[in-house]
Amino acid sequence: MRSKYFGRFGGQFVPEILMNALAELEASYRQLRRDRRFRGELEDLLKHYAGRPTPLFHAKNLSRALGYRTFLKREDLLHTGAHKINNTLGQVLLARHMNKRRIVAETGAGQHGVATAAAAALMGMPCVVYMGKVDTERQALNVYRMKLMGAEVRPVTSGSQTLKDAINEAIRDWIKNVRDTHYILGSVVGPYPYPEMVRDFQSVIGRETRRQLGRTPCGLVAACVGGGSNAMGIFHEFIKRPGTKLLGVEAAGHGISTGKHAATLLKGTVGILHGAKSYVLQDRWGQIKPDVHSVSAGLDYPGVGPEHASLKDSRRVRYVAATDKEALHGFRYLSEHEGIIPALESSHAIGYLLTHSRIRPKRGACVICLSGRGDKDMEHASRIIRL
Ligand SMILES: *Cc1c(COP(=O)(O)O)cnc(C)c1O
Repeated sequence: MRSKYFGRFGGQFVPEILMNALAELEASYRQLRRDRRFRGELEDLLKHYAGRPTPLFHAKNLSRALGYRTFLKREDLLHTGAHKINNTLGQVLLARHMNKRRIVAETGAGQHGVATAAAAALMGMPCVVYMGKVDTERQALNVYRMKLMGAEVRPVTSGSQTLKDAINEAIRDWIKNVRDTHYILGSVVGPYPYPEMVRDFQSVIGRETRRQLGRTPCGLVAACVGGGSNAMGIFHEFIKRPGTKLLGVEAAGHGISTGKHAATLLKGTVGILHGAKSYVLQDRWGQIKPDVHSVSAGLDYPGVGPEHASLKDSRRVRYVAATDKEALHGFRYLSEHEGIIPALESSHAIGYLLTHSRIRPKRGACVICLSGRGDKDMEHASRIIRL
């Protein structure tokens, strides 16, 4: 039997009633991942609906500023604006093959909700998206997008009324309707097999990158880490290649010594959140810290995927954190010098490399995962950056 753990992290810390559903999900996934028809359908959707392969762009101005050859993996050019669609298309197809007729999902900033609503609309499946009430107000445009694509958005008023509470509600819905409902988790978090399945659906990012680099050796891969799905997606292909350094950039918010940050791997302690054992930003009684913060809503999560926790322990990936200020520097730099407005999340990886010259590829090129585009951040950015 396969392990449900990554080192000492992961597992299935869920109510008894979900154990059957997770077992069924795991069995279907194991079977379908090898199924030619399923793979063909997914490949076709990724190509003609989502827009894969995404370009690997040699950013010459950024390269000059950094002092080494740097490429951007352009996940920002995908349909709905970020890497999230790679996973929602995979899971919605999986749901259909499992004869589940209804989709539930959670969303924080709204990007995963939008990618889920799109995939469900495409398949003609009803879709309910749970979203913290605070987030529905902060991200009103994404709520409108989801509704326009036929999803029902249910505001969550428990707890801090943000992402972690939305996940709790989505899990509750799933427990109640498990016979006909599939829960589409948006990152490499949650109980097994989600961390592995979401990583597999996102690993197309790294596979394409390696193919596109051709004979250029890859000395460094950098990605931002919220739950960790775009990072796992690009890292997976390179983990067995010791010549490639891997850098995961968390959100340091106002600074990791202030408490107002989302640097879970750097500052968290081992605990259980949303069905898995990993690092968690919690107080000494195991309660989630209330002041988790990042300028980017997509990184503002008090947990992190268990595979990242394990890669931190084994030191195969180096984890660092960029402050809001460093991220905004990356955001402005790429806009001004490459004509590409990155998502505030991805800006953490760019800003970190721009301000910390110690980390660089020993030989070969650097690839930064540009996980999404900044269009969704325009309103927020225009309030904090005066032009
Ligand atoms: C959601 C999101 C993230 C954070 O999620 P991960 O699972 O860590 O990838 C990063 N970038 C963008 C553009 C996002 O929408």
